[in-house]
Amino acid sequence: MDNISIPELIKILKKNKINRFHLVYNRQNKKVEPSHSELQFLADFINSDKRDFEEHEGMFFQLTEKYDVLQGAFVHRTKRGQAAGGVRFWQYENVEDYLRDGMRLAKGMTHKNALAGLWWGGGKGVMIHNPEFNKQDKEYREYVYTEYGKFLTRLKGCYVTAEDVGTSVEDMANIYKSTRFTTCIPETVGGSGNPSEPTSRGVLAGMEAALAFKGETLDGKTVVVQGMGHVAEPLIGHLFKKNVKKVIAGDINPDVVNSVKEKFAGKNFEARLVEKGDNSILFENCDIAAPCAIGAILNDDTIPKIKAGIICGAANNQLEDHDKHDKMTAEKGIIYVPDFLTNRMGIVNCANEQYGYPADDEFIERHLQKEWKHGVYQTTLSVLKEARETGKPTSEIAIKQATEMSMREHPVFGHRSLKIIQSLVKNKWYEN
Ligand code: NAD
Repeated sequence: MDNISIPELIKILKKNKINRFHLVYNRQNKKVEPSHSELQFLADFINSDKRDFEEHEGMFFQLTEKYDVLQGAFVHRTKRGQAAGGVRFWQYENVEDYLRDGMRLAKGMTHKNALAGLWWGGGKGVMIHNPEFNKQDKEYREYVYTEYGKFLTRLKGCYVTAEDVGTSVEDMANIYKSTRFTTCIPETVGGSGNPSEPTSRGVLAGMEAALAFKGETLDGKTVVVQGMGHVAEPLIGHLFKKNVKKVIAGDINPDVVNSVKEKFAGKNFEARLVEKGDNSILFENCDIAAPCAIGAILNDDTIPKIKAGIICGAANNQLEDHDKHDKMTAEKGIIYVPDFLTNRMGIVNCANEQYGYPADDEFIERHLQKEWKHGVYQTTLSVLKEARETGKPTSEIAIKQATEMSMREHPVFGHRSLKIIQSLVKNKWYEN
């Protein structure tokens, strides 16, 4: 594909009068096929890829009429149910990076949802911001997200979107204006609201399980937290309730640092204002390091300097290079609790919002209780035990367990979203 840029792809689409297109996996000939012969080169790239492509059931795209925003819905596996995962609004160097990111993120959602025992498949929405416009412009965003909703309506529910980085509650309201195939809608119209507090309890459950695996508890431990945002703040509160000895936390935003510092005044709490790119907080002498700010934080530079015996945090995609850094943490004797296991509450909290909410919803709370087989605590223990028995790194084991679960078909609907995809292809959805 020779590193074709996004504007170049848009030019090809316009030249061929293509507003919408797909790349769908044909299970008979085991090849991805494009909706338009002019786009065979995209299918060829995916068919030749061994890293990110894993028989993704379908990838769907549209180019918005105004603003030239390329919008995508990447559907990985839908045996457990419709593909679920958030939509991000991002920028990419080239088409390869875009397709790779979409495929990788969609696969990640299959793992997260399946390992959580949710009856949802995995998918992700990725839209490419057009740098000619101001990303924060209200009119631009309203148009882009409303069009994305219309796009999902055309896809008949094989993918159900949600909030993700770069997407706000207001953006979700705009999607909801034009489709029912979304979760994470605003609370004012019946949505589930901010999931950060439950996410912090998911991280706490992961920490407790990792310690229990070593025969220990949080009592008297020192915990380092990178980031002091929506997940980290309640997490710090929960840690003090569990009698930790000390918490050291850092953030790049002085307002955040001051407000969280004030909140935990009187506790053995050290709050640091750090420079962007300064990850030294993770190298402190401590029992647990909790990355709760940015991804790709476990890498060649950081892992050798980490002294914590356990890494367990909320940040997405903590391992910079999945296989390499999974192994590196294991070889260093660090117990890494996979991020997609501990931070599941973001999707758990909103995935089933159309079924309504009793107070203390057992279908949400059970993820945070120690007893439930598929809860964060028991799943973490199961992953750590299998990792010890097999000598394999934890993330690899978690993905193996997740993959097995993702192959089970929905008890009522079976593999229905695949039928949706097949009917979209047959009926040339892109022409309507
Ligand atoms: P947030 O934006 O509220 O908090 C992140 C904080 O990290 C901010 O205060 C920011 O200033 C700080 N930060 C950014 N870069 C930093 C750096 N280099 N060093 C130190 N601090 C830095 O986000 P959040 O909702 O608390 O989520 C935290 C992480 O967890 C994110 O990676 C997010 O994708 C992930 N996550 C969150 C949820 C959720 O329910 N909120 C669910 C799943 C995953």
